[in-house]
Amino acid sequence: MRAFFALLAAAVAVAVFAVAPEAQTPAFDLVIRNGRIVDGTGSPWYRADVAVRGDTIARIAPRIDAPAARTIDAAGKVVSPGFIDLHTHARRGIIQVPTVDNYVRQGVTTIMEGPDGSSPVPIKPLLDRVAATRVTPNFGMFVGQGSIRDQVIGPVNRKATPDEIDKMRGLVRQAMEQGAFGLSSGLFYVPGTFTPTAEVVELAKIAGQMGGIYISHMRDEAGGVLDSVRETIEIGEKGGLPTQITHHKIIGKKNWGRSVDTLKLVDEARARGVDATIDQYPYTASSTSIQAALMPAWALEGGRDEVLKRLRTASMRSEVQKETTRIILEERGGGDPNNVQLARCDWDPSLAGKRLGDVTKGRGLEPTVENAAETALWIVEKGGCAGIFHAIDEDDLQRILRHPATMIGSDGEVPIFGEASPHPRSYGTFVRVLGRYVRELKVIPLEDAVRKMAAFPAQRIGLADRGVLREGMKADIAIFDPNTVRDLATFERPHQYAEGVTQVIVNGQVAFDDGRMTAARPGRILLGPASR
Ligand SMILES: [Zn+2]
Repeated sequence: MRAFFALLAAAVAVAVFAVAPEAQTPAFDLVIRNGRIVDGTGSPWYRADVAVRGDTIARIAPRIDAPAARTIDAAGKVVSPGFIDLHTHARRGIIQVPTVDNYVRQGVTTIMEGPDGSSPVPIKPLLDRVAATRVTPNFGMFVGQGSIRDQVIGPVNRKATPDEIDKMRGLVRQAMEQGAFGLSSGLFYVPGTFTPTAEVVELAKIAGQMGGIYISHMRDEAGGVLDSVRETIEIGEKGGLPTQITHHKIIGKKNWGRSVDTLKLVDEARARGVDATIDQYPYTASSTSIQAALMPAWALEGGRDEVLKRLRTASMRSEVQKETTRIILEERGGGDPNNVQLARCDWDPSLAGKRLGDVTKGRGLEPTVENAAETALWIVEKGGCAGIFHAIDEDDLQRILRHPATMIGSDGEVPIFGEASPHPRSYGTFVRVLGRYVRELKVIPLEDAVRKMAAFPAQRIGLADRGVLREGMKADIAIFDPNTVRDLATFERPHQYAEGVTQVIVNGQVAFDDGRMTAARPGRILLGPASR
């Protein structure tokens, strides 16, 4: 009997072999032909074919003729590594939109969560949930210092006790063990803003010892921006870890031009051996909540009930209004209530897209700065809104973009298509750099832009197998037309996808193909240095 089966197996094998030998398994799963390779390192482009087998770049050569299950003709196009975004708030939307169209259609293949000091603590439940959801891009996380402090101390303005610092250290350690790539802070926000520098250093040390980096939304991006850059550098230096100024910008007309000095501080730090870097999004407006942007931190201490109590006390309310007026004039308000735009108000969706001056008028008030400040407080009482703040200068933006230690990060989220009026950075950051700043304005060369989106961020968080097109690397690949690639999303009409990207490949699978998201959802959870 056994002999019979052996014979049968042999016969089947012979039969299979005998059927058309040219129908053997192709050598490669995918070959991309005739493209210009911009490999992510910053080197000038070169012409070659790229072959993918499984999830890996198997071969790059001037000409690959071996049979492939699929070929893509990239003549006239650029073939680059998929882009890596170290600063996203993707937990806003990634479960509802697991294909993450807004990023993938720009060529983004890896997104990082947990910036600005804000993450779930512990991080593992979110990592598990994203893994179970099966998403299109790769996904990794930082752990947030603000969230850790909130959990241990609450949103209050006081120093931590030695015991509490120990507890916070433990939470950083746990997050690193669970796969965090480092510690983020949002020292601008409550409760991060109540943290003394030395306390951040204590937590940064743990992240550093475990191979992580420190990435910070600084304490002050307006009048105090120079001190904030010094603090970010100090935390890297004393914490013994790489440090990064995230979404670097100069807020408020009075402060415009100061990027000359902030960049000088970064250069000086780097010259003496501090590993300090920068990321940036290419827009002259920022986005965060109305209350965080326009109210003083002291008014936000203690959580929402405390905030509302303060606003009900007449003397306190007028104190807050005075400060909010100043912030509209000098900081995130951009000097004019109409430089503040509402992005999303859950209690009144019809306000999305409106300007603060117009909302003030709508309440029957003259749109003076004082009345706009009063309207901002009214908004906070109603339940708050996300806002967009036009208060950044194009010259600072371009100066920061040109700096060799600046990479690209969106600070975006995963919008529900058509819902609310979010900052266009979620849809446009990467292609805007390629279209507006490379092709139109020629601020930086194409190869440098791709470096800032690929090899540089990959190196920053220790992703040794992504960010560069090279044999043996993971096959995360973007293909785009350098003559047409561009962003369409605007502040008036944000829900518009990128143009000019034709294919996006994640872990060897085509995830975006000629205008369509495919059924593949090949993204993986990426784990940081202490859990590998
Ligand atoms: Zn931020």
